[in-house]
Amino acid sequence: MTHTVAFTNIGQLVTNNEQLGEGMLGVIENAGLVAVDGAVTWVGDSKDVASHSDVAAVDMHGRVVIPGFVDSHSHIMFAGDRSQEFAARMAGIPYSAGGIKTTVNATRAASDDELRQNAARLIAEMRESGTTTVEIKSGYGLDVANETRSLRIAREFTQDTTFLGAHVVPAEFSNAPDDYVDLVCEAMLDECVPYSTWIDVFCDTGAFTTEHTRRILTAGMARGLKPRIHLNQLTQGDGIAMAVELDCASADHLTYLSDDDIATLASSNTVAGLVPGAEFSTRAPHYPRARDLIDAGVSVALSPDCNPGSSYTTNMPFCIALAVREMHMTVDEAVFAATHGGAQALRRTDVGHLRIGAQADFVVLDAPHYIHLAYRPGVPLVHSTWQHARMTFTKGDRA
Ligand SMILES: [Zn+2]
Repeated sequence: MTHTVAFTNIGQLVTNNEQLGEGMLGVIENAGLVAVDGAVTWVGDSKDVASHSDVAAVDMHGRVVIPGFVDSHSHIMFAGDRSQEFAARMAGIPYSAGGIKTTVNATRAASDDELRQNAARLIAEMRESGTTTVEIKSGYGLDVANETRSLRIAREFTQDTTFLGAHVVPAEFSNAPDDYVDLVCEAMLDECVPYSTWIDVFCDTGAFTTEHTRRILTAGMARGLKPRIHLNQLTQGDGIAMAVELDCASADHLTYLSDDDIATLASSNTVAGLVPGAEFSTRAPHYPRARDLIDAGVSVALSPDCNPGSSYTTNMPFCIALAVREMHMTVDEAVFAATHGGAQALRRTDVGHLRIGAQADFVVLDAPHYIHLAYRPGVPLVHSTWQHARMTFTKGDRA
């Protein structure tokens, strides 16, 4: 039996396809949408819905529908809490990569069920703010058994799992980082590959050098994993050329970027994954140069970078507001980056848009215009979230 859903009276439908509607977001006013068995089968004028489906259509009362957000960067396999560290940082102690070790200790001590329940709680938060696709990284186990189980549990939630054994060098290897890189490239990779799609490295001061990063990514690629990278969050490093050479799907953070870095990215297929929640939550001296990246032709993705240390938010609309206010992206660019950009960063063509054939993942907004995502920061505008054409969250209708 087929499962069909149909909607009429959508005030604005964001398709992310210029051929289907106005502007870069392909906006159709007063639209209709039909989805069958989890995929979009028709979009167009509201009055034509009945001729494209045989079910009773849901009246959207002028609400906005946009593609579900695609979060291409999350660290939700962890246990514990670092609120004290956050409070201390806000009182003047600077952020460093070292705080990750606090979470490593808590994660190693947690049961499988504790890790699973924490991830499920955060994914529920994501759904409530409109995220329908998520990438999940390991990186708080930092030994063979704990990295493996992090990825095994992450696979229960998404196919886009990322082996980040090279998040930081764990305390027990602090005097022998080369030995830790050997472990990551050999025994740890052996165990983690079956549960991983991607491989990632934190390439920065206090984490891994460019040489170590190249070695680790290359080892993962030789085992069939696809590369992505954390780069230039804390300092201006020299890793961009390597990231592009290895065809990383995304280079994330990029708080520090030279003009040459931007030109190199512009000549590549590597997406700039910007995570302004991290600059916000670490009170970084500045945000990434999103305007310059976009003007140079670089594809940009936005993500909350949910993690317990430097950006403990799951909320994509918050990142859209930051992107517009702090990084000088237009509202259209920010909404596109949070949807289509995230899909590009995961090299997926089935999500991040609402063309015919797309996975029917979308978000209904209690708002007359998608601009409200940036215009009304902090306000929960998501009326309902749909994944594979089924409603997975609704806050219901207010009287
Ligand atoms: Zn990250």
